[in-house]
Amino acid sequence: MISTSPATSGFACAALSPVAAPHDIPFPPTGETALMGRPARATVLDLYGESQTTTPVRDRWPVCPVSGDFLMRHLRTGEVTRGRCLDSSCYACVWPVALRVGGAIGLARPDRLITLTHVGRTWATIQSRMTYFRRVLTRRDLPLEYAWHVEPDPDPASPEHHVHLWSHGADPSRGDIAAAAIAASMGPVCDVRSVEVPTDGRIPTLAYGMKTCEPPHGLMSQLWPEAERYLAANGGRLVHPTRGFWRDLLGHPVNRMREAIRLARQAQGFGNWVPAT
Ligand SMILES: [Zn+2]
Repeated sequence: MISTSPATSGFACAALSPVAAPHDIPFPPTGETALMGRPARATVLDLYGESQTTTPVRDRWPVCPVSGDFLMRHLRTGEVTRGRCLDSSCYACVWPVALRVGGAIGLARPDRLITLTHVGRTWATIQSRMTYFRRVLTRRDLPLEYAWHVEPDPDPASPEHHVHLWSHGADPSRGDIAAAAIAASMGPVCDVRSVEVPTDGRIPTLAYGMKTCEPPHGLMSQLWPEAERYLAANGGRLVHPTRGFWRDLLGHPVNRMREAIRLARQAQGFGNWVPAT
């Protein structure tokens, strides 16, 4: 399984307090269903991970209303499945797309999972603060590449959001991140954890930050409230990468997310699908 462990930090986050230990999520047998495991040490930040963490089964995903009538065949195995429009605004495709994005994040081999809190209540505010946050990191000679998601707080009544970043590059302490977050008018409570990915060559699917985009069941006929809140909080997108984040299997930079997704699916062994007719 994949796990994270707390990174060393000299910053005291006084607001953190222990909560019930989270359940570990076993690494599933197929790459497409993988989720990131929970942090090894429970903190109040784990409350942000309490919703929708069950292992998805592809057959239970809703049929795509746009492309579901088209059948696709796996070139090597002959397996047949329904087509997908792969639009993140499609209730049937948002989770499959999130898993593809998660595979591309896994292929980039991030070594830190950073969580920022009280990032703002609207996409416009959050986007502006995250731009400033990046400027502060650069000014302080902490060149990080990262992909980030805004996640609405689990309590639907809460207007607050938090952000998860998958990063590689510099090795910031929690104090570095907290100082940059405060400078960007975000909350002082933050978290920096090491990401331990499989060492046996498997490419993990790091979909943790997008978990509310997993459909509650396969009979959905519209986006569910958690997914709508997620997309609204993220300006309609699933992820926001900085320049230089995407990588190929050898660690070389990849410019476009679409290409990173293609390479990740190739590395995860999903193979090629063609129209079944
Ligand atoms: Zn669709």
